[in-house]
Amino acid sequence: MEIISEKCNKCLECIEVCPVHAISENNNLIVIDKEICLSCGCCASVCPRNAIEFE
Ligand code: SF4
Ligand code: SF4
Repeated sequence: MEIISEKCNKCLECIEVCPVHAISENNNLIVIDKEICLSCGCCASVCPRNAIEFE
């Protein structure tokens, strides 16, 4: 999964929904730990800005 930083408004909903806690805020950016991510798509489905895409 990839976060399009320009679209993200840092609502943090993706962090709340990720079942494996792969998303965090770091230096004011939302980042996905690709080692942990299962590519389940939950974060993309809740993102109100369509800022998360499958790679
Ligand atoms: S795709 Fe699933 S596992 Fe990966 S960051 Fe999004 S919610 Fe978490
Ligand atoms: S849900 Fe979307 S807009 Fe909200 S913090 Fe995550 S990537 Fe950014």
